[in-house]
Amino acid sequence: CFKSPLTNVWGESRCGGDWGPELKFAGYDFLILEGKAEKPVYLWICDENVEIRSAEHLAGKTIPETETTVKKEVGDYECKVVSIGPAAEKLVKFACIMSDYDRAAGRCGGGTVMASKNVKAIAVRGHGEIPVARPEEFLEAVEDAERAALEHPDRAWFMEGTVSFMEFIDNTGDLPTRYALTNHWGKSKKVYEELKEKFITAYSACFGCPLGCGIHTEAKMGKWGAPMCGGPEYETAAGFTAASLCEDVEALLRANYLCNIYGMDTISCSQVIAFAIECRERGWISDELLDGVDLRWGNAEAVVEMVEKIARREGLGDILAEGVRRAAKIIGKGAEELALHVKGLEMPYHDPRVAKTGALQYGTANRGMCHVHPHETYDVVHTPSFAETLVPYGLPKPPIDGYMEKGMGRITALVQDAGMTTEILGLCKFLVWAGLSLKRRAAILSAAVGWDVSDVELLKIAERVTNLQRCFNVREGVRRKDDMIPKRLREMPAYGPFSKKEAAIMDYEGMLDEYYDVRGWDRETGIPKREKLEELGLKDVADQLGV
Ligand code: SF4
Repeated sequence: CFKSPLTNVWGESRCGGDWGPELKFAGYDFLILEGKAEKPVYLWICDENVEIRSAEHLAGKTIPETETTVKKEVGDYECKVVSIGPAAEKLVKFACIMSDYDRAAGRCGGGTVMASKNVKAIAVRGHGEIPVARPEEFLEAVEDAERAALEHPDRAWFMEGTVSFMEFIDNTGDLPTRYALTNHWGKSKKVYEELKEKFITAYSACFGCPLGCGIHTEAKMGKWGAPMCGGPEYETAAGFTAASLCEDVEALLRANYLCNIYGMDTISCSQVIAFAIECRERGWISDELLDGVDLRWGNAEAVVEMVEKIARREGLGDILAEGVRRAAKIIGKGAEELALHVKGLEMPYHDPRVAKTGALQYGTANRGMCHVHPHETYDVVHTPSFAETLVPYGLPKPPIDGYMEKGMGRITALVQDAGMTTEILGLCKFLVWAGLSLKRRAAILSAAVGWDVSDVELLKIAERVTNLQRCFNVREGVRRKDDMIPKRLREMPAYGPFSKKEAAIMDYEGMLDEYYDVRGWDRETGIPKREKLEELGLKDVADQLGV
């Protein structure tokens, strides 16, 4: 976690892969990077030995070049590496930290922060064991969770990669299309079938995962060519197709590959490009700035070109590399109203107009407009089996009407806190859809650290974390106005089967009032009240904020 250079508020980002477990095997729970190295460096951590090595020769290298070189130099091809690419070095505001070549801690510009500290990579190798407080109980709890995942009916779906969800998402009106002018594209089936038939070459899993949602693709021939690499996962696929109305699967693979090697968040990158297409269509971007790029809906070639230009900060790419909020300010005219972001973070690929809990999630998530931090709240509408797991904690019995507004404040806060528990425990959220109930999460934590934490207590801890992050944001100036979602998403989708009047968000402010009341936050300012902070053991934070 970090203060985001993209949003200037709470930033955090996670990724799968093997680096995290390796750090733990080396004997560390986390690393804190303070200050800034005078010249580019990388860290080599092998158990208790920590070296800071020069990385001047790695300047400008892509992620695969960096990772391979570092492994060779430390003389251990089994070590795990996180690194940043050329986009971070150019201080693109949504640059990622990449792990295991193509796993991205994508959102909020963590790579940009690493670059600002002159840290190009961190290689880790651990040979130790991980002690747990109650080993037998721990093993039992983990085996129970693993069994639940292995037997879960949705497991097969995950194993096809999240991109296989795209057709379902499209058909439920959850796919923001043409820069979210509407929420149904109708071409996802074709895109996925072509991807699966021609380009998916392998499936993979992160360390110890029973689901294994990773896919690898390769486009050997054709116009673009994309060497074998990880993804695209759903968000990337939606971003480089439906958002800009491009149907060219090979261009999608190329854009995914470029983001992987340059180290850029595919959500923010594809969003700023779709935004630029609409700005150009409205005549807000000059031909001079476009520098020959024919940026228009459906032109995959221009989309791929813009990915390159953003990574290199060339022409319009230099403006878009600042993220949509700053880019809109620079472009001016009506661009600021058009820009889809909350707190400066670009919109992901789920549409809040068919599941209005998603609107509150986008508005109030501490890292900005995020679907998954701390949780995909809209899934209580789209996935009744997931909603069922939260009924014991106060969620209404499914099905939940996605167009409903009253009651969404309570639902959103509960699902966010439940999701926050996975963030606290460092677990992949997908396991939550595959049987990793709150009770199972509490059992694993209790056995691992030797506490006796119940599911309800775990929820309370999560609420505390949510409030602490909110207080960080309050300190940085976040107030109620910053929890507003963009105008376009409060209006009825412009066309398509979900263009219904009930899809318009009639009373977002009322939903926000209800959410604040449930949270114990002041309606006028959005600041957590002293009583709430004291209830959560955060009196010192209340004192610091002066509330
Ligand atoms: S489900 Fe989560 S942990 Fe498993 S492979 Fe996918 S991202 Fe990694």
